Amino acid sequence: MKMQKPESIAAQALGWIDESTREIVGQIHTSTTYIRDEDNQYRNGRVYARDHNPTFEQAEAVLNALEGGYETRLFASGMAAATAVFQALNPGDHVIAPKVMYWSLRNWLKTFATRWGLHIEFVDATDLDAVRAAIQPGKTKLIWIETPANPLWHITDIAAMCEIAHAAGALVAVDSTCATPVLTRPIEHGADIVMHAATKYLNGHSDVVAGTLTAARDFETWQRIRSIRAQIGGVAGPFEAWLLTRGMRTLFPRVRTACAGAQRIAEHFSQHPLVEEVLYPGLPEFVGHQIAAKQMHGGFGGMMSIRVKHGEAAAIAVAANTQLWKRATSLGGVESLIEHRSSVEGEGTPAPKDLLRMSVGIEATQDLIDDFEQALTAASR
Ligand code: PLP
Repeated sequence: MKMQKPESIAAQALGWIDESTREIVGQIHTSTTYIRDEDNQYRNGRVYARDHNPTFEQAEAVLNALEGGYETRLFASGMAAATAVFQALNPGDHVIAPKVMYWSLRNWLKTFATRWGLHIEFVDATDLDAVRAAIQPGKTKLIWIETPANPLWHITDIAAMCEIAHAAGALVAVDSTCATPVLTRPIEHGADIVMHAATKYLNGHSDVVAGTLTAARDFETWQRIRSIRAQIGGVAGPFEAWLLTRGMRTLFPRVRTACAGAQRIAEHFSQHPLVEEVLYPGLPEFVGHQIAAKQMHGGFGGMMSIRVKHGEAAAIAVAANTQLWKRATSLGGVESLIEHRSSVEGEGTPAPKDLLRMSVGIEATQDLIDDFEQALTAASR
């Protein structure tokens, strides 16, 4: 029977069976090279593992089906995937990127990509007029979106941005790491490329570094991206690719559990006397909530931030007093993480100094609430 629903596609990893062994779990292929046919051809299409390791294929096919894409490619990290998109542009091209976005990519754009000859303009992506005003006809080739965006969880209207970009002949690439295909399928809203730090929710267990790009269709920039991967070889290892396929099997229940927990935690602390503000797209008063409700289905994500009353020292003290919430960077794993974000991002961060970024895992929500509550109390003494 044909699999119709994304939950089934993920749970069975497309239901692939290895006909030679009848295994329902695919193998890890370690060979770096492949035998040529006697007449010097490579009829099975595999030449060398920098681009052709068969272990990539199931992970790529599963994600491609979940995103509704034309083709998906696996990379060594989220950064390897994201930077491949920019490397596919030409020196002199103009790019619009959001002011609020994953900080390492922002830094790379400001330094390496700028030296490379790209003109990167950072705009408030929640202000469509500002985006329209930033367009340089004929020169703007790409609008980069991250939604929800680190670490303030700004929501960008993907469909509206695609309309602006496409009218100007530019592509739209969406870092959909925090939304995941469980909540948002950017291609349905017009996006040309979807990027994931697969290190996060797609794998989900904090034990793989990987990234992905999915193209909505075949186009010249996508062909360049494919050849960048093949030539530079920023690919995941076979074990990572295999683990990623394994991780995606539980993507739906993990993301839905994290969303439900984050919603309850956000509501619980939004009126708390020791809390300045809760930033979570699922709160009705959150700027961007209406757009999030339009383009996110079944939840508002597992990421939130809490601004603690009494400033930076108080925020750091709260993080120091958590026990269940683990003080660590990263996100999207089954365990909940907490981090004082401005000390990670340093100069130029949009994160207020009193902000704690929180990745909600799949533990009992009440345990997470109790732990954060005791940490707030302990830090206020
Ligand atoms: N995009 C987002 C939203 C991220 O949170 C991260 C990592 O934290 C990345 C991209 C980069 O991914 P990686 O760490 O796999 O290079």
